[in-house]
Amino acid sequence: MQDSKIDFDDKLRQYGIYVNRTTLKTIQINMGKLCNQFCAHCHVDAGPGRTEIMSAETADQIVNLLTNTPSIEIVDFTGGAPELNPAFRSLVARSRSLGLRVMDRCNLTVLFVKGQEDLTAFLKDNSVEIVASMPCYSRENVDTQRGKGIFDKSIDALRRLNSVGYGREGSGLRLDLVYNPGGAFLPSFQEGLEKQYKKELREKFGIDFNHLYTITNMPIKRWKDYLEHTGQMERYRELLICAFNPETVDSLMCRTLISVGWDGRLYDCDFNQMLEIPIGGHCRTLWDIESFGEFNQGSIATGTHCFGCTAGAGSSCGGSLTFKGMGNG
Ligand code: SF4
Ligand code: SF4
Repeated sequence: MQDSKIDFDDKLRQYGIYVNRTTLKTIQINMGKLCNQFCAHCHVDAGPGRTEIMSAETADQIVNLLTNTPSIEIVDFTGGAPELNPAFRSLVARSRSLGLRVMDRCNLTVLFVKGQEDLTAFLKDNSVEIVASMPCYSRENVDTQRGKGIFDKSIDALRRLNSVGYGREGSGLRLDLVYNPGGAFLPSFQEGLEKQYKKELREKFGIDFNHLYTITNMPIKRWKDYLEHTGQMERYRELLICAFNPETVDSLMCRTLISVGWDGRLYDCDFNQMLEIPIGGHCRTLWDIESFGEFNQGSIATGTHCFGCTAGAGSSCGGSLTFKGMGNG
């Protein structure tokens, strides 16, 4: 997929739609590319060998800006494995002390990394909402996508989280799971798949969770390489474009979110970050602004990859965007 702005904006124009930011509610922080896993579909190209991680000084500047931005409600941590960054826990605690909701995009197996023995307790004590990758309830599919042995470890991690209350009714500790397709197709209908996941995980493993988010694979970095290598790129690109759903556009996550890179650069979303498309098309960093609110009502830099967010039922870090999906997963 070419990262050309023309196709997506032309499509929006056909429908008389224009995408800009409204009022910021979420700051998504990419803590860096270090990860204990090396998944086939990773759009970050993260892995155990990566050294690009956020510094404590950059984390401090985020806290300054959060303090100056009253509209922010959620701080959403991603990576890599954000928990492996030494600045993660302090940044979580300070965000919570500002009264903000904190979400951790957790790969689950990080709970078993040496030195992270107390991570579950830390997340619980800070009422961190966990959004965990679990691309299937079948061992074979998960291990194919995320690596051998990952399914069993993920099940153990979910059991550990359930044991302290995560995902259990009445605990107030939220545990959501994320599904993404194992191949070049769109996700299934989110609500239907959630029911299937709940049944399978409860009956086979005694696991509970709150909600399932279905997410479309973005043709960026490792997933793009895979599509190109297997000759599926053009077909996948056409699939995303043909499945354009104008009803998703109002809810695109970039309308209420901005993304902070590990080095303090700012982007309209994590995908744009990976493509190095700066926020609104202009290079800005945490040190160029006094409040994140400066981006309210600002423009959003789009590209052909944006069709990944508008295909079928739509896709965002919070799952599908409409109920009128065209999923075929
Ligand atoms: S997909 Fe997530 S868990 Fe897998 S390598 Fe990328 S950042 Fe790590
Ligand atoms: S890829 Fe980013 S900028 Fe494009 S529509 Fe999706 S969230 Fe918005």
